[in-house]
Amino acid sequence: TPRVGVLALQGDVREHVRVLADLGADVVTVRRPDELAEVDGLVIPGGESSVIDKLARAFGMQDPLRAAIADGMPVYGTCAGLILLAARIADGAPGQQTLGGLDVTVRRNAFGSQVDSFEVDLEVEALGAPPVHAAFIRAPLVEEVGPGVEALATLDDGRVVAVRQGALLGTSFHPEVTGEQRFHALLLDLVRERVRRAGRRDAAR
Ligand code: GLN
Repeated sequence: TPRVGVLALQGDVREHVRVLADLGADVVTVRRPDELAEVDGLVIPGGESSVIDKLARAFGMQDPLRAAIADGMPVYGTCAGLILLAARIADGAPGQQTLGGLDVTVRRNAFGSQVDSFEVDLEVEALGAPPVHAAFIRAPLVEEVGPGVEALATLDDGRVVAVRQGALLGTSFHPEVTGEQRFHALLLDLVRERVRRAGRRDAAR
């Protein structure tokens, strides 16, 4: 079973732990570098990206997280987590930094405030039928997508709300609050593949 972490600095950690556990993963919460070193994949939850950024730096997690991403660790960011994975933020808080990894520009709160939260059904070809029931809660929008980035889902007007680049996944919305498990399952597939490859590398030594 793949061992997957949920970054537990701030945000809706518990919901992600539940989905991953339902899918049969060995799930742990991650706050410190030594805990990050023990996992093969990671979820960065929704919450407040500027707070998660500050705490990541205060806990000495920014560099280890960047190193893990550069090393090819599968990471799935939802909402604030997507913002943290984005290379660029159009409207960051003063001094706000990201981990990067996804060659995208995101706009925070692109849909307005908490009262403008909404739910829609999205066709996601990579996941097949049925459509994804997606909850947008003070959600960011992916405004620009680099050449290596695949748009996994768009709104009816074409705006991008889910992306993949290599082992990194990001969604503007929160599948973990609507019972949608397929994005987490996709993350676990990426984690298993990486563990398999690492095993082959070790065996060849
Ligand atoms: N607007 C929040 C931010 O900037 C994200 C909201 C969410 O994660 N639901 O981080």
